[in-house]
Amino acid sequence: MKSDVVIIGGGISGLSLAFYCAGAGLKTTLLEKNDSVGGSFNSHQFSENGLKFWLEMGAHTCYNSYQNLLDIVEACNISDTIIPREKVPFSLLIDNKVTSLMSALNIFEVLKSIPAIFSLKKDGLSVREYYSKIVGQENYNKVLSHFFSAVPSQPTDDFPADMMFKSRPKRKEVLKNYTFTNGLQSVARAIAKRRGINVFTSQDVTGVEMLDGRYVITTAGGGSYSAATLALATPSAVSSHLLQSIDPAIAGHLGKLKAASVDSVGVIIRKGDLSVKPVAALISPNDIFYSAVSRDVVPDEHFRGFAFHFKPGLSEEKKMKRITEALGVSTAKIAHTCQVTNVVPSLRVGHKEWLESMDRMLSGKNILLTGNYFGGMAIEDCVSRSRSESERMKNM
Ligand SMILES: Cc1cc2nc3c(=O)[nH]c(=O)nc-3n(C[C@H](O)[C@H](O)[C@H](O)COP(=O)(O)OP(=O)(O)OC[C@H]3O[C@@H](n4cnc5c(N)ncnc54)[C@H](O)[C@@H]3O)c2cc1C
Repeated sequence: MKSDVVIIGGGISGLSLAFYCAGAGLKTTLLEKNDSVGGSFNSHQFSENGLKFWLEMGAHTCYNSYQNLLDIVEACNISDTIIPREKVPFSLLIDNKVTSLMSALNIFEVLKSIPAIFSLKKDGLSVREYYSKIVGQENYNKVLSHFFSAVPSQPTDDFPADMMFKSRPKRKEVLKNYTFTNGLQSVARAIAKRRGINVFTSQDVTGVEMLDGRYVITTAGGGSYSAATLALATPSAVSSHLLQSIDPAIAGHLGKLKAASVDSVGVIIRKGDLSVKPVAALISPNDIFYSAVSRDVVPDEHFRGFAFHFKPGLSEEKKMKRITEALGVSTAKIAHTCQVTNVVPSLRVGHKEWLESMDRMLSGKNILLTGNYFGGMAIEDCVSRSRSESERMKNM
């Protein structure tokens, strides 16, 4: 099949790039390995006796500072499905008991650190270097480091401080933080249905080569697609592998990045079977899971759900045992389970220099690269990167 651009990877990076390419009038093909689009932007759907429920297995919150995402949501005519998130707390789980994050902080240490809030700059500092000065070393070690590690589901001590939480201009008329009536995946589905975008799922891309000036993309199932422009929206290691024969220098530069796998297990429980108070997420310091993100932010009449984000390499039994202990329920009370593995980048101080070199290498080439390992891993970072890559292509 012939297209102007073939995009490999159907997470929010690939989908938003498809949105921009199709908007520019290009015949756009998107290839996704899984049987549905969304990647880490994927809400699991469950139904029982006609009752429907969804659970976020990856991303869960959007903000009014996600301006590029909001523009896409508006263009897809789904702004009316934006809904608020219930104000329930992010809590700590200590000895299987839920306690508040604030009660675990040493307030005197926070007060002592106040001058640093005004004088310290994030630039060039790691998360540990910056935040241990902002809240105090003990508070950082005991509380905040676990809270931060829960964000990308991996230790974040060495992450660049300026890439963890970014301040962006906000759309004041939009809810500060929100989700969508049917979960975040409704955005993925709406983009995939746009005119000019051909989406093919269950397409595990295994090879890319250049033939007669066009990119030829082949899949594990024997599919073949060709395009004038190639776009990669897969984790950095996959993109590096696929580019090896086309552009070894870019492949090598991508290969320098590290990433972590997150094994997520979702559990759905009938409401009456669970006594844990409503929470946005549970964070359990030094545990085998980084966080258990709850659906309590969009309460349901019949079910509650939690996505446990585990360290990689644990057995199914060990994960399920920990889930039942943490929630205080027996396995028999779990109505439904689901599993996914997502890949998240392990960013390091110096990433900006890596990015500048990457962009110099891409200059003038009809290869587009997007993903969650450029300006940051938030949804808006992915969409902004896709937008700037689509603009680079228009100017080529
Ligand atoms: C647990 C968790 C919670 C998060 N919470 C938030 C949040 O609340 N708010 C926020 O802003 N961000 C959040 N994030 C970050 C954000 O969700 C991700 O960074 C973003 O969704 C990544 O999108 P992506 O398209 O770059 O990558 P992915 O979503 O990983 O998509 C890459 C796609 O490429 C496909 N693929 C891989 N190899 C191939 C191949 N060979 N052929 C074809 N397809 C292939 C994959 O199947 C996948 O669908 C969270 C992330 C995680 C993991």
